[in-house]
Amino acid sequence: MRIDIITLLPELLESPFRHSILKRAQEKGRLEVVVHDLRQFGLGKHHQLDDYAFGGGAGMVMMVEPIAQCIESLQAERRYDEVIYMSPDGDLFNQPMANRLSLKDNLILLCGHYKGVDERVREHFITMEISIGDYVLSGGELAAAVVVDAIGRLIPGVLNDESSALLDSFQDDLVAPPVYTRPADFRGWKVPEVLLSGNFPQIEEWRLEQSILRTRQRRPNLLDEE
Ligand code: SAH
Repeated sequence: MRIDIITLLPELLESPFRHSILKRAQEKGRLEVVVHDLRQFGLGKHHQLDDYAFGGGAGMVMMVEPIAQCIESLQAERRYDEVIYMSPDGDLFNQPMANRLSLKDNLILLCGHYKGVDERVREHFITMEISIGDYVLSGGELAAAVVVDAIGRLIPGVLNDESSALLDSFQDDLVAPPVYTRPADFRGWKVPEVLLSGNFPQIEEWRLEQSILRTRQRRPNLLDEE
């Protein structure tokens, strides 16, 4: 899978994909993340990217032309499944959406700044809009990093069996059970006996019970939806 991220602050995206699972995904050739500096499509001598809003008011707006040129230059190279704008009023990102997107071949993620992008970008180029939550960030880069991380680890062949995504929260409409590692007793705080029993069917049963209990306590909406 290939993900192209369009941004006016490429530096913000230098580190997030260079570690851990996402690094491995790229090394295995399952994921390619390409960050594009929108500045190279900026207008005039100063490579201008934003301008005052028509109608007045505070805050700059990202211009349609550089974004159009950047997206079209990418689309000339390959077919994209979705051209996604990161936006606080977009569809709320969740695990089912991450699952769906992880099966795509090519995605573009457009990061906004300032007051956002000229509406004509959204009308004519964007096929999907994603929000990572009901709060406003100063730019789309961190949101894009969240989306790439969540998608990247789901791409078939990225996670090995031990870290299988199927055991994660939300995959069964359940949150994950509690986990423990050594020591079995720390300051008298003991690990649940069953986990030390070696009785795997019983351990599985305990984990499922805990998941259901936790889901009821923390995310009852997941159970309601069934
Ligand atoms: N004035 C806009 C906010 C612009 S914030 C409004 O009220 O809707 C600047 C940029 O940050 C946006 O263009 C978007 O790309 C990104 N952004 C901010 N909050 C976000 C969120 N919750 N999810 C995804 N992207 C977000």
